[in-house]
Amino acid sequence: MKHATKRFSAVKYAAWALGFVLAANPARAEWVKRITDGIMGTRITVELWADDPATAEAAIDAVLAQMRHIDETMSTYKPTSEVSRVNARAAAGPMRISKELFDLLTTAREYSIITDGAFDITYASVGYLYDFRKRVHPDDAAIAKALPAVNFRHVVLDPGNQTVRFSQKGVRIDLGGIAKGYAVDRGIEVLKSRGVTRAYVGAGGDSRIIGDRFGKPWMVGIRDPRKGEGEIITSIPLVDAAISTSGDYERFFDEGGVRYHHIIDPHTGHSASKVRSATVIGPYATRTDGLSKTAFVLGPERAMEIYNRIDDIDAIIVKLDGTVIYSKGLEPAR
Ligand code: ADP
Ligand code: MG
Repeated sequence: MKHATKRFSAVKYAAWALGFVLAANPARAEWVKRITDGIMGTRITVELWADDPATAEAAIDAVLAQMRHIDETMSTYKPTSEVSRVNARAAAGPMRISKELFDLLTTAREYSIITDGAFDITYASVGYLYDFRKRVHPDDAAIAKALPAVNFRHVVLDPGNQTVRFSQKGVRIDLGGIAKGYAVDRGIEVLKSRGVTRAYVGAGGDSRIIGDRFGKPWMVGIRDPRKGEGEIITSIPLVDAAISTSGDYERFFDEGGVRYHHIIDPHTGHSASKVRSATVIGPYATRTDGLSKTAFVLGPERAMEIYNRIDDIDAIIVKLDGTVIYSKGLEPAR
């Protein structure tokens, strides 16, 4: 298990020795954890080891401020966000955008290419017609009309001028499939810049960890897609890694034997239902978030082929029949 066991043993002795130093010097160092609801429509968890509680609380405040900023910039629920302004104007011509948004759009495009178009932020050109809370879904005619606007190639990026343009009308983007992972990575950077060496940052299904828990890895549970929140199919030991899980149980409703849920197949405009859940483990949460939707669209076999091809990624997929499959890097750890 390359993401935990190897690195775990590499840091084990250093951590063990540090444990002694801290025990000999009983300042007020401790684990501090805070759970916050309402940013990016999800639950944010930050837990870290700090020299004293005030330092920890200030660091957590800084992480949450960073996440609020990302929410303000990227949310399509906020009409004033930069992404909403792009959706309103970019079909009319090139529009200069912030470096932060430009870079994330560039990353999103890269994941579209890696996943054979399964990850596609222009899914929103059809996706906006769904409202999972109100049990609303488009009919076939509405989907057929909107579908030509779904294609990541419609988002034209010009790095020289830092502009974005939509090549046709009707194109909409939504970063809901990558923004939480990105926010987690930015949160981790905030903590690192403050000297934090052991921490967990989670936003909904996306998490990243720095360091370990003094000689022990962090244990991250993977939920059983057809059971309650506390029921897990397995726990993964992680040190210095990110993990994202996508499930068809997050935002959904069932109607006439069909499950309508929040991951959309860019090729059909319908909910992508080829697996129940997919978990991706890798170095960055932006990356694991961007890749975790692929299995829903491409199905377990094709997705696993892609995951196995990418060096720094591992994956766990729960298939429709409930069986679980693992990427090559995880096989020995089962
Ligand atoms: P969470 O929002 O809990 O992190 P996921 O990581 O599974 O859940 O992301 C689901 C979100 O991804 C959807 O709510 C939607 O905003 C976005 N999305 C849906 N389909 C696609 C797609 N084909 N490509 C990219 N993003 C998508
Ligand atoms: Mg996610």
